[in-house]
Amino acid sequence: SEKRLIQSEMLSAVGQLAAGIAHEIRNPLTSLRGFLQLMQQSKTYNESYADVMMSEFIRLESIITELMVLGKPRSSDKKMVSIHKLLNEVCLVLDSQALMSNSTIERAFVDEDVFVLGIDHELKQVFINLIKNAIEAMGSKGGVMTVSTNSLEDYIEIVVQDNGVGMPPELIERLGEPFLTTKEKGTGLGLMMTKNLIHYHEGSLVFVSEEGKGTTATITLPVSY
Ligand code: ADP
Ligand code: MG
Repeated sequence: SEKRLIQSEMLSAVGQLAAGIAHEIRNPLTSLRGFLQLMQQSKTYNESYADVMMSEFIRLESIITELMVLGKPRSSDKKMVSIHKLLNEVCLVLDSQALMSNSTIERAFVDEDVFVLGIDHELKQVFINLIKNAIEAMGSKGGVMTVSTNSLEDYIEIVVQDNGVGMPPELIERLGEPFLTTKEKGTGLGLMMTKNLIHYHEGSLVFVSEEGKGTTATITLPVSY
């Protein structure tokens, strides 16, 4: 039956995720063990081994932090969320991160604020993930990224645009797969979470990107009156 099929699909998705998590955690653990063994054998402290070990610990920490967010129980009571207030708060939090990589976040909101029935911190997480990716895509050279809103009939469209590295079509197709990352310190969990959260809010997410030119992420969410 259909229900059985959905259940088995879910189980296999859980299995895939578990396998991915195990793999992602085992790599830094293996390297930690290796460097520790080397230090034990040589019986001397080695600065560069310690540096690698520290970065592997940091990597483990960031994987676990992201997984914890993912596993947090969802509060089911949705509230009216002001999109402009939310976007302003998120941009404010990320302004300093943008500045550190020589970027700025430009805001271009429609005049009238719009309300979405949703969970405030989840919607925040969506835009934090997308804006972080945009900042990271522009690298240390930096650039200008824009967060804009458009009012459609029953929807609000939020556009996060950057002029960063862009993505090839093969990568765009796979966005949202757990642990898919091209970054040395990436977790590849951000977009999986983002896609899920947008789905819970009955919205959609579309990427348009060109390598070397930049990326546009368009989120649509149903509006509440
Ligand atoms: P992470 O940021 O940890 O790598 P994400 O799930 O947030 O994981 O993103 C997955 C991958 O998608 C990134 O590693 C990157 O290759 C690509 N990506 C996402 N957003 C952008 C963007 N705005 N510009 C270029 N590439 C992007
Ligand atoms: Mg990310």
